[in-house]
Amino acid sequence: MSKVMIIGIDGASFALIKPWSEKGLLPNITRLMRSGTYSNLISTPLPMTGPSWSSFMTGMNPGKHGVYDFIEVTPDYKTIPTSSNNLMAKTVFEIVSDSRRRVVSINVPYTYPPFKVNGYLISGMPIHSKDYDFTYPPDLKNELGDYIILPEAVYEGDNEDDILSELNIMIEKRLDVAKRLIKEDWDLFVVVFFASDVVGHWFWKHMDETHPMRRPGDERYKDAILQIYQKIDSAVGELIKFKDEDTYLIVMSDHGMGPVHRNFYINNWLLEKGYLKLRKRAVTKIKYFLHNRGWTLENVLDIIQKFKMTKYLQQTSEQDRRLLLNIFLSISDIDWSRTKAYSFTNFAPIYINAKGEEYERLRKKIAEEMPEIRDEKGERAIDKICFKEEVFMGDQLDKAPDIIYYLRDMIYHTPRYFEFGSNKLFGTVGCGMSGTHKMEGIFIITGEGVKKDFEIDANIVDVVPTALHLMDVPIPPDVDGRVLKDSFIKDSWPYKKEVKYSKSPSNRRKISKKELSKQERESIKEKLRGLGYHA
Ligand SMILES: [Zn+2]
Repeated sequence: MSKVMIIGIDGASFALIKPWSEKGLLPNITRLMRSGTYSNLISTPLPMTGPSWSSFMTGMNPGKHGVYDFIEVTPDYKTIPTSSNNLMAKTVFEIVSDSRRRVVSINVPYTYPPFKVNGYLISGMPIHSKDYDFTYPPDLKNELGDYIILPEAVYEGDNEDDILSELNIMIEKRLDVAKRLIKEDWDLFVVVFFASDVVGHWFWKHMDETHPMRRPGDERYKDAILQIYQKIDSAVGELIKFKDEDTYLIVMSDHGMGPVHRNFYINNWLLEKGYLKLRKRAVTKIKYFLHNRGWTLENVLDIIQKFKMTKYLQQTSEQDRRLLLNIFLSISDIDWSRTKAYSFTNFAPIYINAKGEEYERLRKKIAEEMPEIRDEKGERAIDKICFKEEVFMGDQLDKAPDIIYYLRDMIYHTPRYFEFGSNKLFGTVGCGMSGTHKMEGIFIITGEGVKKDFEIDANIVDVVPTALHLMDVPIPPDVDGRVLKDSFIKDSWPYKKEVKYSKSPSNRRKISKKELSKQERESIKEKLRGLGYHA
């Protein structure tokens, strides 16, 4: 019966870590790789922080745990933020608590609203404000001082120093709290550092010499991402000092990170193909006429001071934001009664507005036509198209978007402000975002019997079954992941020990759900937009 310590580095990627590691720039992570087993950790089909950490926590795909995105689309085509209330499967923290073992969880995304555990829990995103109760037990909040859940600064194009300084403070404060709680009694200890995700989104262009948004000659922030990784690397070094011989250590991320070059506007394609229909009223006709002639958010943002507008769009209320966006062709111009397909959420999957035979026929037709989409160089823009049941499975499948597709090398961003942000299929990435999520996160495990400097293949749903196996806690029988036995040498106990599943046939979560207040939902959506997501 061992203990497990998990250090999460949101958005961390071996594409960055391996070269830096070879140059000796990340000594602690490198030492763990040399003394342990590691893998690219394949993320959820829509590789976003919310669903990915939810899949980590449950060992299940979103088709079972029910979180596909930061937001969900309501029957009247509005969006509301998702939270731990949407998690239909028990988290590892609850499973371990049920076995009377103790947990500490610090800043794991999608543990808000906080829930009861046998130990301590500090919620992570999407909550950002300490005005809300974000800990279990609730009075733990009062002991955290000036702890930062998410950075306050929003990228405005010229405030890099403010963002970097806040990210550094955020890491320091989190390390302080982690070092305090690590001295408590625990069997499972998890802490997630989020600064790596934020810095990847905003600073990629400074590091990447081939990036189209790179400012020539501007070398100031060239090492910004590296410096945040180094800061987290030393935090890893500090935390592993607390690990005894019986503790297995896992370092992981929820998805990878890489460059984003252009925006992609799938709704323009759906409109052109006649799947998406506009209202027949005069004002919509005028807006559509102007849209086709370049009256678009993208062009207007290019003309006026782009980033001031961006900040306004991020920080204004939902109502004011809609009023502003409605001067362009927008969601209010869609005729939902005649629309057969539309795209709404992050990574722009397609939702089909039809049932039965028509649904099947439409889905097939759209999937057949999508490969025709060419990028500005005339090359195929889409690598892969999947129907929802090909990538998700479980009793929450009805909530899933109907068609998921992967844009070539995932170098396109599907923008959030505006459903028809450009009159073209491709456009410039507004808001200064230059990095985005990729499918391959990281996984490193060290401890007794773990193979040294050995590489395997792992999926994000495998982490929790592996951790439970090491802790000798029965694994829920409906997890999608497997115990990563190939990480262990053949005569080690984790390899030889039979995998033990719990008897209960299902793992449904039964918690009393406190709905998020309207104010809380607004606040979360504003924050998500500030971080660069569609909300
Ligand atoms: Zn993430």
